[in-house]
Amino acid sequence: MREPTLGNPQNTIEILQKYNFIFRKKFGQNFLIDTHVLDKIIRAAEIDKDDCVLEIGPGIGTMTQYLACAAGKVVAVEIDKALIPILEDTLSGYDNVKVINEDVLKVDIARLAEEENGGKPLKVVANLPYYITTPIIMGLFEKQVPLKSITVMVQKEVADRMQTGPGSKDYGALSLAVQYYARPYIVANVPPNCFMPRPKVGSAVIRLDRCAEPPVRVQDEKLMFRIIRASFNQRRKTLANGLKNSPELDYTKEEIEEAIAQLGKGPAVRGETLSLEEFANLANILHNKMN
Ligand code: SAM
Repeated sequence: MREPTLGNPQNTIEILQKYNFIFRKKFGQNFLIDTHVLDKIIRAAEIDKDDCVLEIGPGIGTMTQYLACAAGKVVAVEIDKALIPILEDTLSGYDNVKVINEDVLKVDIARLAEEENGGKPLKVVANLPYYITTPIIMGLFEKQVPLKSITVMVQKEVADRMQTGPGSKDYGALSLAVQYYARPYIVANVPPNCFMPRPKVGSAVIRLDRCAEPPVRVQDEKLMFRIIRASFNQRRKTLANGLKNSPELDYTKEEIEEAIAQLGKGPAVRGETLSLEEFANLANILHNKMN
């Protein structure tokens, strides 16, 4: 297998010029140009030849080359058709890579895992397009895609939101959803000068290890996530008001106040102070009121 040729500014510029490539902002195109960061991502994802890796947004194929050297197989989904001839060129020395020209949000990834990896769990590794980080990650979890782990570059602020707990200003629905499905840890912070063009914000690599079992017991997952959304939609309101005003929930004022009291909280408690376990308990209390 060929050693990676990309990952530095000069070779990236050469390829972009050769194909007169024009960056498209709407696709969140910030290409990696730092070999140390690439090595770090590959090491953090702990890829070996038994792994089938799904890469979302290969760009010009920089990380794809590194992944192809480490993994058994790489499937890369890229939306921008202007990048396809470039990928054919930069990936020509790698026979274990398949490029799919599609919007990843429209791809049935569970089916892709079935077809490309016999239904066995995939590893997702990517420098994500930042404008769709949350739908990509939530889609992978909620659609029950067989996954070992997700190792991705995201905005620093989003990585912080995924990892944090109650009491922090970054704590919210994304933190709780990620921590319900996975164990997150931030691998590295990455400054804007590691990308071309430079993004306006700092980035971070985060690894999410899929939990075999969720860390809390909840009778109705959907209800718990409706409660979580309602609590954070109106951040400055009390938990009771957030739940009462939610169009997604159908409980009376009395039922909600009783449930909060049963949880052992006062009437003025705010949603942002509740842990995942407390949200699960609250969902179970409200579920039992209806059933
Ligand atoms: N992996 C490359 C790298 O690190 O240099 C490129 C990363 S760049 C941040 C994001 C990539 O995702 C771009 O190539 C962009 O065209 C692609 N992309 C954006 N939206 C997408 C979507 N909905 N489906 C698939 N790929 C997408």
